[in-house]
Amino acid sequence: MSKLYIGSHVGLNAPDFYLGSVREALSYGATTFMFYTGAPQNSFRKPLDQLKVEEGRKLIKESGLDESKIIVHAPYIINACNITKPDLYEMSINFIVNELQRTAGFGVSIMVLHPGAHVGQGREIAIDALVKALDEALDRDGTNVKIALETMAGKGTEVGVTFEEIAQIINLSKHKERLGVCFDTCHTHDSGYDLSDFDAVLDEFDRIIGLDRLLVVHLNDSKNIRGAHKDRHENIGYGEIGFDILYKVVTSPRLENIPIILETPYYNEKPPYKQEIEMLRSGKFDPLWRDKL
Ligand code: ZN
Ligand code: FE
Ligand code: FE
Repeated sequence: MSKLYIGSHVGLNAPDFYLGSVREALSYGATTFMFYTGAPQNSFRKPLDQLKVEEGRKLIKESGLDESKIIVHAPYIINACNITKPDLYEMSINFIVNELQRTAGFGVSIMVLHPGAHVGQGREIAIDALVKALDEALDRDGTNVKIALETMAGKGTEVGVTFEEIAQIINLSKHKERLGVCFDTCHTHDSGYDLSDFDAVLDEFDRIIGLDRLLVVHLNDSKNIRGAHKDRHENIGYGEIGFDILYKVVTSPRLENIPIILETPYYNEKPPYKQEIEMLRSGKFDPLWRDKL
């Protein structure tokens, strides 16, 4: 069997910052991980030289992790779709530029970005605004980092909810070579895709976007039924998608070498990732695993 690149989102906290992120990932038995370069909800960012980046990268090398599989997630407050507030729109572009440069500073080459929300402007205007913002950011950032647009659940006025919308964003951009996709299992299920026939969903993805655009998978169960448009992540095997389907995703030969990132919730204030990774590696689901945390 080929090597599985699986991990979870991890923290970036004082005092060890990036070194601590790598240690956290290793403590889960992970072979990759994802992190935010600052708080996910705001734009305050500590300079890289205070984040023990070199120490973290050294440990990545020593422990045999593949840096090209590590992922940064941009903060989710960025809404580069909203052109009704020019100041905020300009700020979003600057923030994407800054975040791309930070990502490169960590030695990471993939940054996940939520496409944003149309906030009543309508989808077409929002998508045009987003494409313009992305093109400007990708003109200016001076890195090779790729942006992975995340498939969204369709909560509120989110865009990027269908494969068609994601394809439209990519096709309208003049920087297609730097755009790809993050496939979130909770979000696609919530937006209405039937993951029980995962191969059919991948066929559709391939036909509309192209499988070669797939850069990362967010592997989450969902608290809600298919099509609920909610975006509430659940632990593996405890939600409406279920272990068997998520295991099929993990072992799909068509996703070979694609990093798989868990964003499932803590349970009783404890991270579930070590157990979830173990079960997804072995294929053996323990229905009581969460109570043993
Ligand atoms: Zn996300
Ligand atoms: Fe996600
Ligand atoms: Fe989500």
